[in-house]
Amino acid sequence: MAEQERTGHFVVAVDGPSGSGKSTVSRRLASATGARYLDTGAMYRAITWAVLRSGVDPHDADGVSKVAADVALTIGTDPAAPHISADGVRVDAEIRGADVTSAVSAVAAVPAVRELLVAAQRALIAAPAPIVVEGRDIGSVVAPEADLKVYLTASAEARAMRRSAETAADVAATAEALARRDRFDSTRTVDPLQQSADAVVVDTTGMGIDEVVDRLRDLLFARSAR
Ligand code: C5P
Repeated sequence: MAEQERTGHFVVAVDGPSGSGKSTVSRRLASATGARYLDTGAMYRAITWAVLRSGVDPHDADGVSKVAADVALTIGTDPAAPHISADGVRVDAEIRGADVTSAVSAVAAVPAVRELLVAAQRALIAAPAPIVVEGRDIGSVVAPEADLKVYLTASAEARAMRRSAETAADVAATAEALARRDRFDSTRTVDPLQQSADAVVVDTTGMGIDEVVDRLRDLLFARSAR
């Protein structure tokens, strides 16, 4: 809390590809600074879960847009207890499954989905309490006025090793799936994954979680002190 008092209200945007350490680092940074935590990837995943549940093809933009307009999402911002529901159903575990992971990039490329979620994310960010927001387009689109923008990255090998340790899947297959998702996320027409010109790039290859969180905290305090 003392640190929150030192820094006052702030918005931290953490962007980067899958496996860069965004989620763990953002959540830990939020806890360490008394801030809220928003996992925007979970929102795209929850819409994808609803699309699959409805039997709609994730590449059918009109069908996906209809599902997205109808589903009611609720997301928690307490870093100690992140949770997300779709139409009142908790989907925290389901959204991490292989089906959702392989369909999410197609759903996230649909402009109507992005429009809805960006508006919802901005509304959450606008509440008068500090927040750490992680995603792909936070510094560039959702919160271009963020007090600190970080672009987390790591070598393809390090990212695949981390992801396969989480999912117990084969490293080579994980590397291939990550590369496919990164390509899709970086080349889509609307709000692609991109590094904002004013983002601080942190390469987490070979860095421990604590080290990365400390680095970001130092950067945040340096910004607030200006
Ligand atoms: O971060 P996570 O791996 O959970 O994100 C899942 C997917 O959601 C990404 O691969 C991307 O397609 C999409 N996403 C996005 N914009 C964000 C966050 C996630 O397009 N801000």
